[in-house]
Amino acid sequence: MIIPIPITKQEILKIYKPVNPVTHKGIQGHVVIIAGSYGKIGAAVLSSKAALKSGCGLVTTFVPKCGYEILQMAIAEVMVVTDANSNFITDIQLPVIPQSIGIGPGLGQEQATQKAVFKFLENNILPLVIDADALNILAQNPSWLGLLPPNSILTPHPKELERLIGKWQSETEKFENTIAFSEKYNVIMVMKGAPTHIVFKNTIYQNTTGNAALATAGSGDVLTGIITSLLAQGYEPLHAAQLGVFLHGLTADIALPETGYQSFTASDIIANLGKAFL
Ligand code: AMP
Ligand code: MG
Repeated sequence: MIIPIPITKQEILKIYKPVNPVTHKGIQGHVVIIAGSYGKIGAAVLSSKAALKSGCGLVTTFVPKCGYEILQMAIAEVMVVTDANSNFITDIQLPVIPQSIGIGPGLGQEQATQKAVFKFLENNILPLVIDADALNILAQNPSWLGLLPPNSILTPHPKELERLIGKWQSETEKFENTIAFSEKYNVIMVMKGAPTHIVFKNTIYQNTTGNAALATAGSGDVLTGIITSLLAQGYEPLHAAQLGVFLHGLTADIALPETGYQSFTASDIIANLGKAFL
């Protein structure tokens, strides 16, 4: 029997680091979000905005050309760098060295994007959060998993998890196979769901916040931005994952009396991040 350790408010308060009064944006952490393809630029918007609203100092978003004006108009605070290609990413060239990188939301799985992800992983040494189509690309090319820096954070929803570790017959088997995967590749697994579990070094943690309002488009893209932002601020990867899922869930608990389950959207997660941090 595997008994997960609850991620309680008490534990979170030990992890949480108050903002230094004399900090400035240059040392608050620079995040890069690599995301988006034609028709899915909203995923890049949600991740980038969530990162900004989670305490990092700067966000640079890398999108295909079709995302340039959308990003600039949607988020005044973000810096935008584009691929040479219009509708999907083909070559990831970053003009900055950030503290952390989130990759995957809305990325698509074009062959050229897959190649770009490979080339990026081959050269990257920065802390990573890997989500959505970046996970699907890795599931199709499992040998690339060996390129991930130690303690990279993978954030699969159940279908993405299945593509990575294969089908399971029971909850126990799912946990065992996820632990084996995380040990093999030396990564942290955020098994998103109701509730979310985090697997790190043979231990499973269970989130205690959140509700069914989070079952909505873009919810996971926001989580990617939050965790990447915390990583950039110097939280160690396990703590960034734990604090990230806790805050993400807490926004839905805070908003529920106003929005109900039905009218809560991913933008409401972002809008309630301030209250969650407070
Ligand atoms: P994604 O499928 O990538 O958009 O991610 C969905 C996010 O919402 C994850 O963080 C899930 O843990 C969360 N979520 C989805 N459904 C529920 C639910 N019924 N209760 C709590 N959290 C949920
Ligand atoms: Mg997702």
